[in-house]
Amino acid sequence: MTKPPASGLSLGIDIGASKTHGILLDADGSRLAETVRPTLTGPEGVVNTAVAVVIECLGQATAPDAAVSIGIGIPGQVDPATGLVRTAVNLGISELDLGQRLTAALGVPVTIDNDVKAAALGAANHLGVADGDLAYLNFGTGVAAAAVVHGRLVRGHGNLAGEIGHIPVDPQGERCQCGQRGCLEVLAGGGRIAARLAALGTGLTLGTLVQAAAAGEPGAEAEADRLCTGIALAVQLVVLTQGSELVVLGGGVIHTAPGLVPRVQEVLIARAEESEFLASLRLAERITVIPADYPVAAIGAALVGLRRTRAKQLAPIG
Ligand SMILES: [Zn+2]
Repeated sequence: MTKPPASGLSLGIDIGASKTHGILLDADGSRLAETVRPTLTGPEGVVNTAVAVVIECLGQATAPDAAVSIGIGIPGQVDPATGLVRTAVNLGISELDLGQRLTAALGVPVTIDNDVKAAALGAANHLGVADGDLAYLNFGTGVAAAAVVHGRLVRGHGNLAGEIGHIPVDPQGERCQCGQRGCLEVLAGGGRIAARLAALGTGLTLGTLVQAAAAGEPGAEAEADRLCTGIALAVQLVVLTQGSELVVLGGGVIHTAPGLVPRVQEVLIARAEESEFLASLRLAERITVIPADYPVAAIGAALVGLRRTRAKQLAPIG
């Protein structure tokens, strides 16, 4: 990875619905310690899990007294200025003052950000464009994006920028949990895909979907087309709205379905053959995938903490 700027140790924690991943980096960006624990849900569960991961990671460090910045990535609506987390549905959180709770429990400032925004920073750092531009598209249970422009996250009012999962792309499509029809999340969110595959009753899974579609298995082709079209539209969307040269695809859906990304690129190339405008965008060429075993969100969370600490150090006094 590209090394973060030297400024003591940085600890990043990615709180996911099933597991919480912590990584401790030294000033050169090398991994000093790493730990994964199952996430306990609910406000108390999430706080207790995060505290346990911090203690476990720092306990593995050889220089436990060194200054450490702590950053957390968590799903939901997150205000990084206050550390308040809202509507992290899969974690059982409607509202949690996570920043203050962790700062009080650990005795050091803890910075909180949305997990997809943190992952975008991690991806930019990994790809050596920490001061450049990219869009990170996350296809997990839901769908969300985060854009980095000139090295800074695009946040928008209320940090809403990037919630593209609820952009309707098929007005005749299935109803989304948000109340609209045909949202991107309905086409390409892992939760909806799993439900449709289960309803087929053929034993088809996301892991076998693309292969089964290529073999012409009933139901598989339609589902693979729907998914790949959803991802392709999301790529087009972030390129046209953010102008991103690089589009990084991440999340469980991308890493669980072998052959998915090449099929998405085929869809983009086929669409470009019908449109000179789309062809000029070279959308298929902009796609990058970060290896599944690279902890992009946890490393991004470490960068979130590091950036906040450095910003405070640089702030004028008084
Ligand atoms: Zn929706």
